[in-house]
Amino acid sequence: MARYTGPVCKLCRREGQKLFLKGQKCYTEKCPVDRRTYPPGQHGPAQARRRKQSEYANQLREKQKVKRMYGLHEKQFRTLFEHANRQKGVTGENLLVLLETRLDNVIFRMGFAQSRNQARQLVRHRHVEVNGRATDVPSYQVRPGDEIAVRSGSRDLALVQGSLEARTRPSLVEWLTLDEKNRLGRVTRRPTRQDVPMAVQEQLIVELYSK
Ligand code: SF4
Repeated sequence: MARYTGPVCKLCRREGQKLFLKGQKCYTEKCPVDRRTYPPGQHGPAQARRRKQSEYANQLREKQKVKRMYGLHEKQFRTLFEHANRQKGVTGENLLVLLETRLDNVIFRMGFAQSRNQARQLVRHRHVEVNGRATDVPSYQVRPGDEIAVRSGSRDLALVQGSLEARTRPSLVEWLTLDEKNRLGRVTRRPTRQDVPMAVQEQLIVELYSK
């Protein structure tokens, strides 16, 4: 399945908020979302002036925002939504928890990579192990007690080193612990909605997929 390889900052500008797709640049004043506050393209400024969006447009934009933030394709996102829908509890919250507990997101949150894209690459290239076993599946769902580590031969990778050094952001969330020296982290508990540090209206996504 082809992955989007175009300019990612355009995706943020389209959604009108930071999606943190680019790594260190996202935390500097060079971020285009701060400098150009209208959607990309020739008609971007006109779109920004246009009147209120329809209910459907709001729902669609919210879904696109979350999907792009985690770097998923529509089919992957839909499958995850259906999984969340089958679980007990509130579907929107279940969806966010399932997204947060993806292995690539956990690697990003631990600071071994500066973006989820980089994290996905680390996993795909077998630089990561879960409970001592090499894992190359970015969608792997971590569980409480899981130990996530950069493999011994990859601990000094410039990407990992640079990412940990640049870690000025508060990326480590409460349900994860990190032993930076040994490039190792642990999942202490299952995250809840309160642990997802993003402004997302997940009920809009549920409404969209329930039509
Ligand atoms: Fe680009 Fe990051 Fe800013 Fe998004 S948040 S526009 S990816 S620099």
